Amino acid sequence: MSSYASSNGKVAKDLKALERRAEAILKARPAYREMVDFYLTVFRRQIEWRGKLVVHPETVDKDQRRHCLREGKPLIACFDPGIQLASLLDLWMEMKAVFRRGNDVLREAVDEIDRAEKTGDFNPASWLPEQRPDRLELISDAARQIGVDESVLGTVTRSVTFPHWEQVALSWIAQDRLDEWKRFRCPACGGPPALAEIRTERSGAEGLTASPRRVMHCPFCGTGWAVPALKCPACDSTRSGDAKYYYTANEPELRIDFCRSCKHYVKVIDAGKIQGRLHIGLELLTTAHLDAIAQNKSLTPLEVSA
Ligand SMILES: [Zn+2]
Ligand SMILES: [Zn+2]
Repeated sequence: MSSYASSNGKVAKDLKALERRAEAILKARPAYREMVDFYLTVFRRQIEWRGKLVVHPETVDKDQRRHCLREGKPLIACFDPGIQLASLLDLWMEMKAVFRRGNDVLREAVDEIDRAEKTGDFNPASWLPEQRPDRLELISDAARQIGVDESVLGTVTRSVTFPHWEQVALSWIAQDRLDEWKRFRCPACGGPPALAEIRTERSGAEGLTASPRRVMHCPFCGTGWAVPALKCPACDSTRSGDAKYYYTANEPELRIDFCRSCKHYVKVIDAGKIQGRLHIGLELLTTAHLDAIAQNKSLTPLEVSA
């Protein structure tokens, strides 16, 4: 039972890393406390449930993976994710219970969802397995039908699909560095990235050569992949005058990168300046003020270019 023991050890380690990262973020950005306190329950549940999730992704070896990616297709286009319906529905029940305890708005939304499920107006059994990053209309159509806020339904839904897709993506990509994939779409699910991370890698004698790497993070499946550092993710511009950024000295670890030509932006975290291990859900939640700043300056998030 060594794999069980080691996966339990990994759960404990990941829970601890989550707490640490949350603490570090709240020290720097205390205004997010109430939100973080609630969403920590969601993120903890996702980690704790990993062992219970049932996914049987199609086995993909290195050559098959390369072949698919070389054709410019994300792995979702070539292979079956094998996510089991019962597993999705179990976590759906669990997450609805978590969100019901959140606040009045969330409780009322979950009550509406339950009502629609009872009357047969909404059927998560046929709807959850269809969720893909490029099928946002599934969420907006269902929200309209049920009569709930689209962003609340989207958040509850992604809290269920994310950990499943995360396991699928991990199995498909394994430890591959994905050198054949230089695109700004997620190599696993094809979705747009929601966050970029700058990592400075030291190499050469005594680590004196520092080269920055830009890693994109997918909010749908959690995959991170390296992309060219100075190319616009939306319009492919590589003109040096186009790559601009906003930055404040108060938040040295955060930045908004934008393109002067197409006006798209991406939120950036400097991994060398943060404490703890990056957690995609937590980072997105606690950088919402950057979206407000960027959108005030008439910039458009990358997702919208999708
Ligand atoms: Zn993805
Ligand atoms: Zn651009």
